[in-house]
Amino acid sequence: MEFLFDMPVRLFAQQNAVEKHQEEFGKYGKRCLIVTGHNSAKACGALDDVTKALDNQGIAWKVFDQVGQNPLVSVCYQGGREAIAFGADFIVGIGGGSPLDAAKAVAAFGADPELTPEGLYQPHRLSALPLLLVGTTAGTGSEVTRFSVLTDDKGHKRSWGNASSYARASFGDPRYTLSLNRKFTLSTGLDAVAHALESYFSVEGDQVSQSFAMMALKLLLPALKEVWLAEGEPTLECRERLYLGSLYGGMAINRTGTAFCHTMGYWLSEEREIPHGFACAVFLPDFIQYTVPLAPEKAMKLFSALGMYAQELCDTIIMLTDAEYEPATDEELEGLLDRWENSPNMKRTPGSFDRQQQRRIAEKVLQKKG
Ligand code: NAP
Ligand code: FE
Repeated sequence: MEFLFDMPVRLFAQQNAVEKHQEEFGKYGKRCLIVTGHNSAKACGALDDVTKALDNQGIAWKVFDQVGQNPLVSVCYQGGREAIAFGADFIVGIGGGSPLDAAKAVAAFGADPELTPEGLYQPHRLSALPLLLVGTTAGTGSEVTRFSVLTDDKGHKRSWGNASSYARASFGDPRYTLSLNRKFTLSTGLDAVAHALESYFSVEGDQVSQSFAMMALKLLLPALKEVWLAEGEPTLECRERLYLGSLYGGMAINRTGTAFCHTMGYWLSEEREIPHGFACAVFLPDFIQYTVPLAPEKAMKLFSALGMYAQELCDTIIMLTDAEYEPATDEELEGLLDRWENSPNMKRTPGSFDRQQQRRIAEKVLQKKG
């Protein structure tokens, strides 16, 4: 036995979680900045539930709804200035991974007027306002992780996270995901599948992270097939399985981080506007084919739990993935290989996933060669 489990987030995962646990919103002060995206928090009912909970607790609140997809560090910095100007004691993030990740950074900028956008990435910088998160997609698992993925001033997506970036409490109510359209339901679900697979095979994994990854995949794959086959909207019960799967995926990557599919996929979101989940999923079949021979026993354990072999798993992922893009030019590919040189995600991938291996897979997926 040898494992590490560390997830210092109080997680309320159930229908009507915000209303049922509204006293959590009264614990961190009297003034709150709500950080969210442009529309969906209002449309799915989460913003209403949170503002009611804040009103009931006598908290003054203000909304910062400037967070777009692939959130910019500069927008988070602006959110931090708003938090300071408003005198916010704490931050509530509502949304998919983009607003939740942004809220983690706003909490840091809001706690320290001297903090610069580059300073955010310093691992030992630890001050942050208390943070509560309310998820509205079933994908990133950001509710339970320390990670925040932000786009810097070069247009590059970069992940950061430390002991200060965990939420004090998170609320996972699958009802909010009912308004997600088919494209984002599949893409966010595939992000969670990527978390589980990349974590399961990670060299950093242990029995606990692998168990979470396996539980995630057992929930996510059948539920995503149901979404794919359904004539109408997925049921709330199906949404619940997707949400739970995404939380388990988050608990797995909080231990291990992600591997090469995430790092390589970032470019497809930055330069080709492919949603994050699809951008990672296009690499998963190659990830499976590369990894399984390096860890055959571990792979067999997974496949027997899932009741499917590698080829069927790859075919299912390909069926669920919708990603059309212009292939990368040779110049773009060389730039990426340079950028990936010191990526920790490549080191977490089993085997020696060196520049040559990276080139082989990048040419195949990003340049559609072979
Ligand atoms: P997202 O970028 O937060 O949202 C995608 C789209 O879905 C937006 O248009 C959003 O609208 C809409 N949306 C969100 N919830 C909705 C709902 N309930 N009903 C209808 N529409 C809704 O998507 P995401 O996949 O959850 O997050 C992706 C981001 O998370 C990426 O930047 C990725 O790099 C990052 N990520 C983070 C982690 C982590 O551990 N922290 C892990 C993986 C990925 P609005 O703009 O109106 O909100
Ligand atoms: Fe992800």
